[in-house]
Amino acid sequence: MTTTATSSAAARQETTASVAVIGLGIMGLPMARNLVGAGHRVTGFNRSPEKTARLVEAGGAGAASVAEAVRGADVVITMVPDSPDVEAVVTGEDGVFANAAPGALWIDASTIRPDVAVRLAAQARAAGVRPLDAPVSGGEQGAVDAALSIMVGGEADDVEAARPVLEAVGRTIVHVGPSGSGQTVKAANQLVVAGNIQLLAEAVVFLEAYGVDTSAALTVLGGGLAGSKVLDQKGQKMLDRDFEPGFRLELHHKDMGIVTSAAREAGISVPLGGLVAQLVAATVARGDGGLDHSGLFKLTEELSGRSGR
Ligand code: NAP
Repeated sequence: MTTTATSSAAARQETTASVAVIGLGIMGLPMARNLVGAGHRVTGFNRSPEKTARLVEAGGAGAASVAEAVRGADVVITMVPDSPDVEAVVTGEDGVFANAAPGALWIDASTIRPDVAVRLAAQARAAGVRPLDAPVSGGEQGAVDAALSIMVGGEADDVEAARPVLEAVGRTIVHVGPSGSGQTVKAANQLVVAGNIQLLAEAVVFLEAYGVDTSAALTVLGGGLAGSKVLDQKGQKMLDRDFEPGFRLELHHKDMGIVTSAAREAGISVPLGGLVAQLVAATVARGDGGLDHSGLFKLTEELSGRSGR
């Protein structure tokens, strides 16, 4: 009994780490909570301090600056909206690179431009920090359930070193290639998800136009080839007109910009992706950027003259 207890304590020590989490929003806070739950020592920093207090309530520690959060950390996770936000928290005097311990791992879980990820990875290495781009998929629920799918770009040794931390927040963790590859795979993910949401929205508008039992229809669609996680997670939201985020449309707008510009740089065309990118842009332009991305339904419904039903 004692032996078991001692060896499990030793195993725990080997796999737990001191982790700084920068950005405690819809995704960062539940990820940080799950890291606490897995036994890691977690210090959080958020630009608006009330979110840091929520991590402290969950057993983590709060820091007043990025520099304070990352000092002495084995692993630093950034989870902020966009490329300029990541750049702002990792560079500069108060940033991650200037204040993290030599050899610390930096895991950027944000979704940003692949070319920016490559550039920041080179800066991290020059500062003695080991970079991984590790964007996630699975939404807020996936973050809460520690069930995220994580696409990781970087050196294989660094991915292995980060595995105990990644396993505390995700279920499917795949090393997809060198720095920047994680973001490239995430861009493809966002292309597929946006297209799925748009087609699901069109299907619901179509079903409602015929007055069929939409709930029954989505159940049977979910059991066949039309079934998807998008249908499972977003179908009922569309029926209920519940567009509380979740994943904000303005973030998906950012991601469609990443997809279309990266496709252009690669010299390929994404015709349906381009169309969906415009529908996302229109939804954001009319003031719905704060809605969940299932809010694409609103514009789809209006295009058929069926809003407010
Ligand atoms: P969010 O709720 O808006 O949280 C972002 C956090 O970053 C906020 O706490 C915000 O602080 C902080 N922040 C914003 N700009 C900053 C800056 N310049 N410097 C320092 N902190 C800054 O966003 P989220 O939904 O968690 O998304 C975070 C990232 O994950 C995005 O790249 C998104 O595309 C990606 N993602 C999101 C989901 C999802 O379902 N939500 C799923 C997969 C991936 P304040 O509190 O002060 O605003």
